[in-house]
Amino acid sequence: MELRLYDTLTKEKRPFVPLDANDVRMYVCGPTVYDFAHIGNARPVIVFDVLFRLLRHLYGEAHVKYVRNITDVDDKINDRAARDFPGLPLNEAIRKVTEQTGQQFHADVDALGALRPSVEPRATEHIGEMREIIERLVKGGFAYAAEDHVLFSPQAMNAANAGLPRYGALSNRSLDEMIAGARVDVAPYKKDNTDFVLWKPSKPGEPSWPSPAGIKAEGRPGWHIECSAMAWKHLGEHFDIHGGGIDLVFPHHENEVAQTCCAFHRERMANYWMHNGFLQVESEKMSKSLGNFITIHQLLADWPGEVLRLNMLKTHYRSPIDWTMKSLEESAKTLDDWYRVAADVAPGKPAASVVDPLLDDLNTPLAIAALHGLRSSDVLALAGSLRLLGFLSESAAQWEGRKQQASGVDAKEVERLLSERTAARSRKDFKESDRIRDLLAAMGVAIKDSKAGTTWEIAR
Ligand code: AMP
Ligand code: ZN
Repeated sequence: MELRLYDTLTKEKRPFVPLDANDVRMYVCGPTVYDFAHIGNARPVIVFDVLFRLLRHLYGEAHVKYVRNITDVDDKINDRAARDFPGLPLNEAIRKVTEQTGQQFHADVDALGALRPSVEPRATEHIGEMREIIERLVKGGFAYAAEDHVLFSPQAMNAANAGLPRYGALSNRSLDEMIAGARVDVAPYKKDNTDFVLWKPSKPGEPSWPSPAGIKAEGRPGWHIECSAMAWKHLGEHFDIHGGGIDLVFPHHENEVAQTCCAFHRERMANYWMHNGFLQVESEKMSKSLGNFITIHQLLADWPGEVLRLNMLKTHYRSPIDWTMKSLEESAKTLDDWYRVAADVAPGKPAASVVDPLLDDLNTPLAIAALHGLRSSDVLALAGSLRLLGFLSESAAQWEGRKQQASGVDAKEVERLLSERTAARSRKDFKESDRIRDLLAAMGVAIKDSKAGTTWEIAR
C-alpha cells in the first residue's frame, strides 16, 4: 500500500510522492513560548510525531527531515516577561521566559513520547533570513515600507499572477470578499485593508534588530514571516509537507504561502498542507474563563504521557476531539493491559493491519482497533506495532512501578499483607484472608490468585 495524505489546498487525499525520497521534508508550526502548553497544543505534536515515525519507517531514518520551530519573539512573550520579572531589563526578562517555557515544552513533549524534530529553529536566530525575504518582496513589488512598517499586499500578488498561487486559495477565500469584509478602522499606514505586517517598529526596550527596506529605526518581525524564513533556511524554497492546527490555515499559512511563493517565484511552498482538528474538553471549548483549561504538565501529574498519547490517537487527526476523563481512564486500562502482555517481548514487525490504516491519511482509530485484534492473535506483532506508534518506551515493571508511585501504594506493605493473607489461607482462616483482601482493595490494589501464586496490581 502507498501513503496517501489529505491536502487542505486541493481538498483531497492524494498519493504522497516526495520531491526527493532521500530527503523527505516536513515543517510544522511550533509553540510561542510564553506559558505552559495546553492539551490542545499536544495534538499537533502527537499527530505529526506519528507522521514523522511513519515517514521514517517508509523512507529510512536518515532520509526524513522534520522541522518544528520555536517562536521566541512575540507580544505575548513581552507582556509575560514584564509581568513576571518586573525588576529586570525587558530583554533579560524575555530570555528568562523563553528559556523556562522552552524547557517546560521539551519536558512535556518528551513525556508524550514525541521524538525531537530534526531541527528546532528559533525565530530570533533567523532574523537575517526574514530580512532577506522582505527585501525580495519589496523588490518584486509585493511589499512596501510605510511609517517604519513593511506590509505585504495580497492585491499586488493576485494582480501579478505570473506562476504564483492565488492569495486565498489555501483557505478557500476570495480576496474580493476579504476586501469587502475587512474592518473599517484599518491602520493608517496600510494602503489596503487586506495588507498584512512583515516588519514593525519596536517600542523602546523591546527586542529590536536593524530593519529591512531602508527603514532607519530598528524593528522586529511579524509572526508569519518567521515561519517562511525558518522553513526556507532548513527545508528550501519548496518542500513536501507543512502542518499545524486548523486554526492556522488563515491567516498564518495563507500568508506563509504568499511570502514564500512571491519571494522565490514559486507556484507552491509545500506540496501537502495538513491540519489537525481542534480539541475541546468535556464538550466545551477550552478557555481560562470556563476553568477547563488544562495544561499537558497538569495532566502528566496524574497520567503517564503514553496514556495521553493513546487517548489523542483514538480520534482521527482531522476530526474534532472531545477530551474526557472517561476516555482517559479507558486509555489507561488499555495501556496497562498492553504493557503487561507486550512490553517485555522481543517485538516483531509492525502488522500490516496497523500500518495500512496509517498509510490511509493516518487513520489511527482503525490502527488502534487492529491493535486490539492483535492482542489475542499475535503479541509480537502487537509489540512491534505499538513501538512504531511511539508506545512501550518502558518495561512492564517500570510501568507498573510508576503506577504504584503515582497511587501512593507502598509495594513492600502490599507484599507483607499478601504473605499474611497466604498464611491465613493456609490455616483456613478465611475471615482474616478476606479482611486483608478488602483492605488491599481499599488501598486500590487488585489481587489475582492462580495456581502459580498470587499477583497484584494497582486497580485503575
Ligand atoms: P499556539 O501556541 O496557540 O500558536 O498553538 C500551537 C499549535 O497548537 C498550533 O499548531 C495550533 O493550531 C495548535 N492548537 C492550539 N489550540 C488547539 C486546540 N484546542 N486543539 C488542537 N490544536 C490546537
Ligand atoms: Zn508557522
